Amino acid sequence: MSYDYEPLKRLYGDRLKLNEPLARYTVARLGGPADARISVGSAAMLNEVAQAAWQQGIPTRIIGGGANVLFSDLGYRGLIIINDAKTIDIHDDGTVKAESGAVLTHIARQSMSRGLAGFEWAVSVPGTLGGAIVNNAGAHGSDTAAVLTSAEITFPNSKIETWPVDKLNYHYRESALKRRSEPFVVLSGTLQLELGHDPAELQAKADGFIAHRKTTQPPGASLGSMFKNPPGDYAGRLIEAAGLKGKQIGGVMISPVHANFFVNTGGGTASDYLSLTKLAQQTVKDQFGVDLELEVELIGEGFDSPSDKQKPNFLNSLLNLLLVTEIIIAILVDMFASPLSQLLGPSNTPLLFAGLTILGVVSTIIGTWATIKSSSLTGICLIFVSFIFAGVSLLFFYLSLAPGSI
Ligand SMILES: Cc1cc2nc3c(=O)[nH]c(=O)nc-3n(C[C@H](O)[C@H](O)[C@H](O)COP(=O)(O)OP(=O)(O)OC[C@H]3O[C@@H](n4cnc5c(N)ncnc54)[C@H](O)[C@@H]3O)c2cc1C
Repeated sequence: MSYDYEPLKRLYGDRLKLNEPLARYTVARLGGPADARISVGSAAMLNEVAQAAWQQGIPTRIIGGGANVLFSDLGYRGLIIINDAKTIDIHDDGTVKAESGAVLTHIARQSMSRGLAGFEWAVSVPGTLGGAIVNNAGAHGSDTAAVLTSAEITFPNSKIETWPVDKLNYHYRESALKRRSEPFVVLSGTLQLELGHDPAELQAKADGFIAHRKTTQPPGASLGSMFKNPPGDYAGRLIEAAGLKGKQIGGVMISPVHANFFVNTGGGTASDYLSLTKLAQQTVKDQFGVDLELEVELIGEGFDSPSDKQKPNFLNSLLNLLLVTEIIIAILVDMFASPLSQLLGPSNTPLLFAGLTILGVVSTIIGTWATIKSSSLTGICLIFVSFIFAGVSLLFFYLSLAPGSI
């Protein structure tokens, strides 16, 4: 299915790029083209672009650092927003408010230099605050859930909500937002860090984390951990024990350094990644009876992600139904008012028109509500048609009180 990008093109001109390769926006350096791509430099613009795309019914995904997403080779049918909204505000009480495109490393380094503790673990985790809020990113015994106090999230119909951390329902690399089928975009997040620490000590701790990573994880283009650790075990240990370290399909290899890292050695494709993933899952299942669950998210044509399908809009279907019903009844009543009143008799005819008047009034109210809620065009049509329908029905009701006048 193709979508109409003209309205977005009119709004954003050359900032909106069509048929854009995604490889350069993902850490694994692969993925086919997106129908459209736009970069945004502030949370306000992020909200504006997302709202505009949602209003046009265009499937939309946002990429932060692209460190946890695998885009299919066929690419993405819809709009990809690249999040460059990076402002970080650090306050004297230890709160850090950052736009969702702020890079984790930058937040960590700036906080440490102000003597704020609690976010050192993020110093070498690739990606943005938005991605971390969605994924509950974490390392070295801590995670996003431990420091986040709230997130500002925008939803269709211009609804911006501030979610306290409890509402995000965090678990290990999971949240109430991850794989949510209804659209949303995280605009910013607020962290509460600990005041009064020695910046040099915090830096030394962070250096230790970086050094540990260098010795335990492979360099190069990868997606970090491909699988979540199953309860009580490690995905990397299981894949290694299954004899798959160093196994390569196409341009993608299970790292000889860490078996839960799949490295794009150059020219690798999303299909190579997927084949290697399936091989690892099947082999580990056969040998150890353990199901490995992907930590990485598969997005794009052929990957069938639930949030990228346009769902039928229930509100619009209801409004359409009401609108069509009213128009059909209005035409029938106009054509057959006289025979109808003879058929029903003088006592029942006023009841019919009273009922139709009520239908018209109720539809006017529903249309008004729908228009306020979603700026729906069908809502506006419904108000107009229902208002006339209610008026005409009221007139017929009045006439039907004097038998023989219809
Ligand atoms: C080498 C390497 C090491 C890694 N090590 C770790 C680690 O130690 N711990 C860890 O937890 N993870 C790790 N990861 C994974 C990755 O760093 C995290 O998952 C990170 O949170 C991804 O952030 P991102 O901005 O890159 O998200 P992306 O990959 O860009 O996006 C991930 C998901 O979040 C959504 N998203 C992103 N931003 C927003 C937003 N503003 N609003 C709504 N949705 C949004 C995307 O649509 C997508 O669904 C590693 C990855 C690599 C490549």
